[in-house]
Parts: sequence; C-alpha cells; structure tokens
Amino acid sequence: MLTSHHRTCHLCEANCGVIITAEGRNILSIKGDPENPLSRGHVCPKSQALADLENDPDRLRTPVKRVGDDWLPISWDTAYAEIAARMAAIRRAGGEAGLYLGNPTAHNYSISPQVPALKKAIGARSAFSASTVDQIPHQLVQLLMFGHNALFPIPDIDRTQHMVIIGGNPLASNGSVWTVPDVKKRIAALQARGGRLTVIDPRRTETALVADAHHFIRPGSDPALLVALLLALDEAGLVNPGRLGAMLDGWDSVWEALRTFEIPALAAACGIDAAVIHGLAAEIGAGDPAVVYGRIGVSTAAFGTLNQWLIVLINIATGNLDRVGGAMFSDPAVDIVGQTGSGSQGRFRSRVSGHPELLGEFPAVAMAEEIATPGPGRITALFTIAGNPVLSVPDGGALDAALDTLELMVSIDMYVTATSAHADYILPPCGPLEKDHYPLFLAPIAVRNFAKYSPPVFERTPGTKSDWEIVAELARAIAAATGDTLPAIVPPRDTLDRMLKNSPRGLSLADIEAHPHGLDLGALEPRLPERLRTPDKHIACAPEALIADLTGRFADWLAEAPGDGLVLIGRRRVRNNNSWLANSHRLAKGPARCTLMIAPADAEARGIADGMDVTITSAAGRVTIAAEISDAMMPGVVSLPHGFGHDRPGIKLSVAAQRPGVSHNDLTERGRIDPLSGNAALVGTPVLVAPASQAVAAE
Ligand code: SF4
Repeated sequence: MLTSHHRTCHLCEANCGVIITAEGRNILSIKGDPENPLSRGHVCPKSQALADLENDPDRLRTPVKRVGDDWLPISWDTAYAEIAARMAAIRRAGGEAGLYLGNPTAHNYSISPQVPALKKAIGARSAFSASTVDQIPHQLVQLLMFGHNALFPIPDIDRTQHMVIIGGNPLASNGSVWTVPDVKKRIAALQARGGRLTVIDPRRTETALVADAHHFIRPGSDPALLVALLLALDEAGLVNPGRLGAMLDGWDSVWEALRTFEIPALAAACGIDAAVIHGLAAEIGAGDPAVVYGRIGVSTAAFGTLNQWLIVLINIATGNLDRVGGAMFSDPAVDIVGQTGSGSQGRFRSRVSGHPELLGEFPAVAMAEEIATPGPGRITALFTIAGNPVLSVPDGGALDAALDTLELMVSIDMYVTATSAHADYILPPCGPLEKDHYPLFLAPIAVRNFAKYSPPVFERTPGTKSDWEIVAELARAIAAATGDTLPAIVPPRDTLDRMLKNSPRGLSLADIEAHPHGLDLGALEPRLPERLRTPDKHIACAPEALIADLTGRFADWLAEAPGDGLVLIGRRRVRNNNSWLANSHRLAKGPARCTLMIAPADAEARGIADGMDVTITSAAGRVTIAAEISDAMMPGVVSLPHGFGHDRPGIKLSVAAQRPGVSHNDLTERGRIDPLSGNAALVGTPVLVAPASQAVAAE
C-alpha cells in the first residue's frame, strides 16, 4: 500500500518540508512539500540521503561490544549492565568521565532533555560538544550583550535591501545558525527588488558567484574589516541606531575604543581597499534595511567572539538590529529563552590548560589533553553521542591516540566511525525515519516563525530504540550501579507539549500536529527591548572582555607584520553536512570533492599541476591529496573541505571508504583558539604545500 508522509528533513538547519512516498518500508520518492510555509517546496540533493540512511546496510542495528578487533552483537540489557558495572568501578576508583555531544544532537529535540541525567550518572564535570568547534562565539556575545546565550539575531533576508555575508556560504550550507531554506531563491528575490548581496570570503564561493560584489579577505583578519567599517560609518556621519539609542549601554565606550584604530592600517591588514570599505559603509549606512551576517569563517577564527560582537555593533550602528530587513529576533512556538537559564561562564576551569567553563562546556580542543595527561581528574571514561570528534575537532590525530588510552568508551552512534571505532560499546539508535522530529533549536533561528511536528514515518524495527531512550536508560542503569537515583523518564513528546504550553504563544502539540505541512506563525517582528534578558532591558554594548580584546590582543595582532606563507581554510559542499552523510551512495557520486584548492600563482610557484598529489604540512600533521588549481582562491590561501578522512583503521563505512579523502583536522592545531570563547581557530592554519613527489624524495 502506498503511503505519503509529511516530514521535516533534519539533515541540515534549513528544515525543509518533504513528502516521503513509500510502499511498505520501501521509499519510492522524497520531494519538497510545496505547502510547507518555510521551505515552499525546496529541497537540496541531501534530502535523498534520508532514504540512504534508513536503508544503509553499514548502519548498526544492535548494540555491539568490542572483542579484540571484532564487534560482538549483544542485547540492550547486557550492554547497559556491563557499561554500568564498568562505569561504577571507574567512579569508585576516582576516575573522571567525559561526555561529547555531536552536531546532530542539535537537530534532535528528544535527546537534549535526557543528557543532564547521563551527565549526572557518569559524574561528568562538564561536557564537550561541537558548539566549541564553530558556534559558541555567537552564544557568548549574545550572553554578554543581550543577557541570554540563545538570543540569536536572524538576518531578515526576505525584507532586506543589502545583505553582507562574511565567511558564510549558505548556497552550500543552506544556512548555518540561520534556518533559511531555499536561500538561492531568497537571494534572487532580494536582487529582483533592487537589493544587493555582498560576500566577503577568501574563496569565491558558490554564494559569492551569485552575489553583486565579492571581496577576498585575508583569513583571520576580520576584525580589521569590521572595525574599519564602523569607523567609515562614523566618518561619513552614518551612525544612527535610531530607536535602539535609548537601549544602548556603553555606546560611547565602544567608540572610544574603536577610534584608537585607523582605516588605512585596518584595510592593509585585511587586504580590502579602503575605498571598498568606505563604499560598503556608505551602502549599508544609507538608511535602507541592511544586515551583516558572519558565520563559519569569522566564528572559527582566533578573534571569533570579537568578530561576532563587531557584527552586532555594525547592525546597531546602522539602525538595523531588531528592524524589519535587518537582524531580528524570533517568536518561536517553543520559547527556549524563556524556559532556560541565560548561560554560565567561568564557574570552574579545565584541569590541564585551565580553560574556563562556558555554558557548562569546556573547549572541544581540550578533550585530547584531558584524556591523555596523567594525574588526578584525568578523563578515563568517555561517552559520545552522535559525534565524530576525531574528524571534527582540531588535531584529530592527537584525539585519535588519546581515545586508545581510555578505560571505557561508549558511543551512541549509528555507525562505526573514526571516533566510535575506538569505543568498547556502540549503542545504535533506530533509523532516522523511525522516530519523530521537532526543530526545537532550529525554529528559533528561522527566517520566519513556524512550527512543524513530524511523526515517525515507519514503525520502529523490533528490538531497536530511539536515541533518547538509549541515553535515558543508560543513565538510569549507571545511576543504579553507582547508588544514585534519577527522576523517572519523561517521554519527549510530553516535555515538548509542556514547553509549548509554557511559551507565550501557548500552543499545544495537538495544535501543531493539526498542521501536517507546518504551522506558519508569521514574519519576524521587532521585539526589543521586551526580548532582552539583561536586568535593565538594555543592550550591553561594551562588555569589558571584548573592549579589552579589541584594544589589547587585536591591537597587538595588527601591529605584527603578516606572515607570507600559505594559510589553510575549510570549505563546505552541498552534498554533505560535516561528516554525517559520507556513506550515502547517492551523495558520494560525482567528481572527487576532497581536493586542495590553490590559487594559480601559488601552484605555479611550487611546481604544482592541476590534479597532482600534494602534501600539506602543518604544525599538527601532514596529509596528501590532489590539488585543484582555481582562481576562486585568494592568493596565499588554500582550502580543504572538512568531514573527510574515512580510511582510519576500524571504520566501517563501505561507501565513504571508496573515496575517503583526508581530514582537514589532521592539520588544524589544538593550540589555536579564540581565548574568550574557547572556540577552535580553524581558519588560517599556516601550512606548507609541495608536490607529494618532492616530500617523498626529501624523506
Ligand atoms: S536544504 Fe537541508 S533540510 Fe532542506 S532538503 Fe537539503 S538537507 Fe534537507
């Protein structure tokens, strides 16, 4: 019998509505849902991977236990009992446990309410997560300025007249920290109404190709551009916060700090002509709705927090924060901001390097040293949930080695990946279409207020469990073994219903389920000062730590002569999402995507021909991959995509293994971080690139 299911694609932040047609459990088609109010029928090629994930023969179907180099299928009860006994023994011996949450957990409403119980049961002081690989600077700035880490300003692309994207490539990502399905059409609509898109990136990206203007920028130099833009607005008399003026604390202090810099030096540092900067300032300060948005390239940088702060300041200075067509705040069906704490900072420090805790987390870059460094408090047991930090965290080689020293490692994962290959136990969740979905964390960052609940498409295969059940049951098994007690398990649907009813809109889950295409809750509207969570409902424009970072660390950086070697940046492709979808046979097809993009002059200077194998060497490691000579690259900058490197020992991903590529994070360095947030500084890793034949000859 043919069945049709209205579902949300959960494979990226865009949250497209899809219609899945199936005959029994056989998926016949996955198409865009034209009646979905957010995505309006759009889907990208990744949507087809929903079927690949569901049917993948490499996906684990039962818990497995490592026995030598083999994996022995075991029952859930055995897995829980053995893990609980081993964890209890480790706790009795004074061992410390760690927890790593991968990026997919942010796309999974049901798992987050269960994580605190697991954290408590294993006695973890703090967690590590993918947030400190690319996102936490946004949250720190929001905590410091708006009073809550989850108050994300959302670019209102549908009503702006000038969008400036720095270090973001939404045509490949479909939006990041910005739920914006069908962004290409939205850009075309912006241009059709006479608006402009400006892209600033060291690579002429897919988004740059459809932009009205693109400017190369020296990787890692973004504060120079952003400060110069603010000064250019000031010089032109275009600083006009409008109605926000009455909400701004510390505005004068900001300008006092900014005016210690000069545009010519800033322009030279970032590699963008002063005339271009003045011109861009004139455009975004002209009074029409405009918005500046910065993403991976500016967040994963040594000045990540400074960058996000300066971007908010530009949006304030041009009167575009909380303005239609500017950077706006949502009014989602589930108001996370109103139902969670604002976020913690600096309550305690990591054992080895003394990183301050932020939002209950230590930097992911600290995980390897916390495991490998002997002494009291060393992490000897690690639990990972839907994460592959060996490939996604800087210096993956160091983490790879550290994981082998653990006394116990448990991975909740569908696959044997570069990370879970080290585990003692892998507990696989059911197929992605065998569980429900609600965009708890992504609806609040969408370009339009919306809600959509997706029931499971298929009945659960007997003997399988949803990931939230695994986390909840494992936590309680461990707690029982250690003599702790945990509250009874609350089904996620009940939690969701309660969160909906406790939110200002007062909807119930039944209200939302009555709209299978999704419930349109309207366009974003101005929400300040009511939405602010600062005690006085003001925006804290001049947080002490940021002023100090600007006038101290950044000023020192500016005074240094720039290096003249090559630096590495990452890149993202539309046919993957980090390392999630590497084993989808539909997505893996086509030309090789893991190549080192290099500018023609840089290739020529090193005797590199297109397609030639080259070695890339950094302070962290060395990899060999084919070169792709491209004038899309800024001279002096090379680009390697992330999410590859699927040929490490033990990985069981048969499709990915056919073209494994190399891991970008075998080159990035653990020591390069944004010290304010602890976020990894992935951008601008110094590298040497040479033909592979020369490297072999030299050895
Ligand atoms: S854009 Fe994202 S949500 Fe939409 S179909 Fe593609 S992967 Fe799925």
